[in-house]
Amino acid sequence: MTSANLRLKFDGKALVQNWQALNALSGSRASCGAAVKANAYGLGVTEVVARLIKAGCQDFFVATWQEAGEIAPLTRDCSVTVLNGVLEHEMPLASKLNAKPMINSAEQLARWRNTGRPCDVMINTGMNRLGIDCTDASVMDWTGVDVDVLASHLASADEDVPQNAAQLAAFGGILAAVPHLRKSLANSAAIALGEDYLFDLTRPGLALYGGVPRAELAASIAPVGALETRLLQVRHVESGDQLGYNATFTAAGPMKIGIAALGYADGYLRGFSGTGRFQSEGQTLPVLGRVSMDLIALDLAAAPDLGEGDWVNCTLDLPVMSDQSGLSQYEIITSLGSRYDRKWTD
Ligand SMILES: *Cc1c(COP(=O)(O)O)cnc(C)c1O
Repeated sequence: MTSANLRLKFDGKALVQNWQALNALSGSRASCGAAVKANAYGLGVTEVVARLIKAGCQDFFVATWQEAGEIAPLTRDCSVTVLNGVLEHEMPLASKLNAKPMINSAEQLARWRNTGRPCDVMINTGMNRLGIDCTDASVMDWTGVDVDVLASHLASADEDVPQNAAQLAAFGGILAAVPHLRKSLANSAAIALGEDYLFDLTRPGLALYGGVPRAELAASIAPVGALETRLLQVRHVESGDQLGYNATFTAAGPMKIGIAALGYADGYLRGFSGTGRFQSEGQTLPVLGRVSMDLIALDLAAAPDLGEGDWVNCTLDLPVMSDQSGLSQYEIITSLGSRYDRKWTD
């Protein structure tokens, strides 16, 4: 029971269908894993992981050991990778968990080697974020290291640029030097780059949650939820009246305005000022003026019967919301805050 005026409704069926679509696009050789870091991009990691395991997903990627610990009760029979690697102070926690570090440096390899436990290895093929440089990996001593997944990560898979092929070639060039069980290169966007990028295991995150990083994926991926907020007050304004902080909207005539319980503190950032859209029974309600910390103003012209306490909604159509706000699809989904009631169906 809750009295929240703000809720997120997630559709487990849509999540599973997105994973199944990405699994099919990953081809017959590669299995499809799931990036569930950052609380499954804000959706709720236990809800997401439980559904994906049921659907057949066996490989999960988190950023931190704390995140691996959170899903540990669910992932006993799965492969869990901690992408941010393992630092010295994390070894006590890491040794208690059934998860692998993504080894990102020679220091981390030395640290992990003595555990005798399997690890994954990230090769830096040009993004220069985490990972071992190709030149170093090719001369390191890998004897006795139990490497499950040998991985790299593309910097620009959402664009058609030569960097993709260059990183693919660099990855191909290191495979023989590091003994491994499986190879993995593709995030969501790279799954659409073609067979050469798929290898044995894909690691989509964003597209599972309704993000569309490349147009090729648009037909296969559906939104997984909607945010809903209640109207707290309805007011009438006259021609010339101004709305909200800094008076960025001026009414051209009499208007009915709904003030709703959602703001930038809820991850509905100021990029939606004057551009966001809500819905009520198929009618569109534009956001007027600035987004406040806890409030937005909506034009109720299309739904004049709405009143205090009524719900309005916004489908988490991430490409559309990205166009409206100028935010990345990743920023929108991971910014949804803690004031929402999160409800799952299926
Ligand atoms: C986050 C992440 C992914 C998932 O990327 P998406 O673009 O969300 O599909 C895959 N691999 C690595 C190394 C990551 O950090």
